[in-house]
Amino acid sequence: MIYQLRFSEELKLDLWLKQAAQEIEKLFSPDSWNPPQPLGVRLILLKKALRDGLLGMVRTSDLCGLQAECDEGCSPAEENTAPDRFDKAKVNAPVERYSLADLRGLPEIAETLATAMRRHVPQLGSGWEKLGPKLAESLAPHLYQNELCGSTDGCTHSQAVDLKVRLSRKSEV
Ligand SMILES: [Zn+2]
Repeated sequence: MIYQLRFSEELKLDLWLKQAAQEIEKLFSPDSWNPPQPLGVRLILLKKALRDGLLGMVRTSDLCGLQAECDEGCSPAEENTAPDRFDKAKVNAPVERYSLADLRGLPEIAETLATAMRRHVPQLGSGWEKLGPKLAESLAPHLYQNELCGSTDGCTHSQAVDLKVRLSRKSEV
């Protein structure tokens, strides 16, 4: 099973990062930051940790999405019960597709990301145990299963996209 995160025109990855960082910030007491940080800095550090953690887990390529196969084999993962789940009738709407390799289901994806985030925010002490479940909740509406995308000629022969460059254009942290 190949898992994939998909973000639509209304909620692209960068906006998701910002919204998720705001939710994650509420998990931690301001006292658990050492040294203490103002809210704005806490949000910047968490968004950056979330971005860097996720970028270490996902792949996409420059030709991905140009072939029908990138959408034909796609279905919502079982945890994805979002009302705006992927609609085949809207297949022409801009979609960002990010493949998650070698991960088995939402809990593992969320815990792997939580562990990666923790490495990026050494200033933050207690409260990490709540992060995995929160990440699972935030990722679930965007999680799909996609057997074809990522393994077609177009996906594998195209160039990997430097996600840091793609994101940094719009994502001032
Ligand atoms: Zn693809």
